[in-house]
Amino acid sequence: RDLANVYLSLKKLDWKILESIFKNMWDFEYVPSHAIIRETNLSEEELEAKLKKLASMRLVENKYTEYLGTAFTFKGLSVYSLKRLVAAGKVEQLGSLIGEGKESVVYTVISQGKEAVLKFHRVGYPSFKKVKEKRDYGTLHYTVLTVRSARREFQTLKRLYGHVSVPRPIAWEGNAVLMELIDAKELYKVKLENPEDVLEMIIEEVKKMYELGVVHGDLSQFNILVNEEGVYFIDFPQSMEVGEDGSEEILKRDVENVLKYFKKTYGIERDLKQTLEEIKKG
Ligand code: ADP
Repeated sequence: RDLANVYLSLKKLDWKILESIFKNMWDFEYVPSHAIIRETNLSEEELEAKLKKLASMRLVENKYTEYLGTAFTFKGLSVYSLKRLVAAGKVEQLGSLIGEGKESVVYTVISQGKEAVLKFHRVGYPSFKKVKEKRDYGTLHYTVLTVRSARREFQTLKRLYGHVSVPRPIAWEGNAVLMELIDAKELYKVKLENPEDVLEMIIEEVKKMYELGVVHGDLSQFNILVNEEGVYFIDFPQSMEVGEDGSEEILKRDVENVLKYFKKTYGIERDLKQTLEEIKKG
C-alpha cells in the first residue's frame, strides 16, 4: 500500500532525480549533487530542496561531506525499480504484500493481464550496510548489492526455467525480479500425504539442477513450494556454479537440510552420502 502511495505521489522531476541516482550509484557510494545537476538542469538549491523532500519520504539518504551526496534507501530503489517495470510495460498494477523476509519483500502484481510475483531484493538490509565492497575507486553503497542479487536470481531462473521446476522469470529491473506466481504453499506449511514421493521429486529436481551446473545454495522447507502438481524451487540469489569453490559443500548442505526436514517431520530415513552420489552420478 505504502509503496503504491509513494509511487503515485512522485512527480516527473522526482523520477528524473531517482534515475540519475540509479545511473551513478555504480560509481559513487553517495552520488554527488553535481552529477545530478548535470542530468536534471536543476539549480543547487532546487536539488537540495527536492532531495530533502525525498529523504523525508525515506526514499533517499543524504549525506553532507565536502559536497551534498545522496543514495537510495531500500524503499527508494524499490519504487524506482517498479517505475522501470511499469515503463517497460511489464507491470500494470501493484497487488498485495505476500512475503516479507530478511532478504526480500514480495508482492503480487498484475503483469500483462495476469497475476505475477514481484520480489524486491534487499540482501540482509540493514545489516548489510556494513558490508561495503571495496573497489579501486572507492566504496559502493549497499543498494548496489541488492541489484546484483536480483540480477543473479533472474539469470539463474532464466537458465533453469524449462528444465527445472522454477517460476518463469518475466523481467528484472534494479532490485526487482518479476516472475510467474506459483499457486502453491511452502513445504513447511503443508502436511504431506505422500512424503516419500515428494522427497523423491525434490531430489530429482536437485539432480536436474546439478546437471545444468547449478547448486541452489539455500534449499530448505522454506524455499520449496508444493501443490498437487509437484514441487517448485524458489529464492536463488545464493546459487552457485557446480565446480565453483565450495559448491560441493553447499550442495551437501542443501541436501542435508531437505533430508533432515523429512526425517524430523515424516520419519523418513535417507542416506546423505548415497543421495549425493545419486545426484552427481548423472
Ligand atoms: P526470501 O529470500 O526473502 O525468503 P523468497 O524468494 O523465499 O524470499 O520469497 C518469500 C516468500 O514469497 C516465499 O516464501 C513465498 O511464500 C513467496 N513467493 C516468492 N516467490 C514466489 C512465487 N514465484 N510464487 C508464489 N509465491 C512466491
